[in-house]
Amino acid sequence: MYHGFGRSAPRFDITQVNLILELTSMARNAQCECGSFKVVVDVEPAATGICSCINCQRRSGSVFGAIAYFPKGGVRMVSGQHKTFVRSGESGGNLHQHFCPECGTTVLVNADFLAGLSGVPIGCFADPTFPPPQVALYDRTRHPWVTLPKDLPAFPSSPSIDEIAAILAKQH
Ligand SMILES: [Zn+2]
Ligand SMILES: [Zn+2]
Repeated sequence: MYHGFGRSAPRFDITQVNLILELTSMARNAQCECGSFKVVVDVEPAATGICSCINCQRRSGSVFGAIAYFPKGGVRMVSGQHKTFVRSGESGGNLHQHFCPECGTTVLVNADFLAGLSGVPIGCFADPTFPPPQVALYDRTRHPWVTLPKDLPAFPSSPSIDEIAAILAKQH
């Protein structure tokens, strides 16, 4: 029961929503390095991949990017400001990278060629039990000391949507 002093009803409080989502089993929380830009995902990934293209290397500051794509309806920005950097993709369409203006971490990615899906860089979940990648892209610029999991399908550049769909169909 609410025992507030004011006359108004309790205000909608986003932190309480976050708490509830953290308690539901399927929700996953992603955040930037400083913790202000937060995204909650309550669906399973549709596709996960790593990409060794030069842009992903520069975006992440690491030697490859790792992103999980989820059905868009299950991905919500729940706190923090963000800025958006738009990169034109080599295989057509743009990539919209939403990042924290404070610490620079990209927490949400929308790709024009993956309509209906939203991507979250896997490291933002800080969860070592997160499902492994299903495909490796831009293997031609992979650092040679990076060893891919044995059965991971790898493409020299970007596969077509049909090629990705075929891989996912085999794995699911
Ligand atoms: Zn931040
Ligand atoms: Zn890439």
